[in-house]
Amino acid sequence: MKGTIWRKSHGAFIMGDGESKVEYKEWFGMSDCIFCKIAQKEIPSTVVYEDEQVVAFRDLQPQAPEHVLVIPKKHVESVLGLQQEDKDLAAHILVDVLPEIAKQLGVDASGFRLVVNTGKDGQQTVKHLHFHLLGGRSMQWPPG
Ligand code: AMP
Repeated sequence: MKGTIWRKSHGAFIMGDGESKVEYKEWFGMSDCIFCKIAQKEIPSTVVYEDEQVVAFRDLQPQAPEHVLVIPKKHVESVLGLQQEDKDLAAHILVDVLPEIAKQLGVDASGFRLVVNTGKDGQQTVKHLHFHLLGGRSMQWPPG
């Protein structure tokens, strides 16, 4: 939008033309991040789990019969972007969310693979922390 003004107010960014408020973006949102847009329901996805801090949805190009991406709603660029104040969030994902989704998908007994591609050599293509949960088939090792 031409002449957009962003200012911070009460924990939210207000985007407007200086006179009228046009749109609110949550303080944790990044306007050009595809996974932030999925978290904020600005673009569609097949959600399999959601709570206040986390959303999980099916990968558009599944690499296994079950392939889900688990993301924090807060924008964190990669696992290296996690800060001290994110410890509860990281523990919540590992201790609560991932086991819950594995159960829901029916892969908790058979097993599954968690992948967190990070940076250039890790082939991370979306710069918003995400855990791939892959299951429903036997995995190979080493990875490509
Ligand atoms: P990575 O390469 O580890 O960064 O993984 C990014 C993943 O996001 C890939 O597996 C993509 O298929 C997936 N992806 C990209 N855009 C979407 C989308 N709109 N909905 C669901 N999955 C997506």
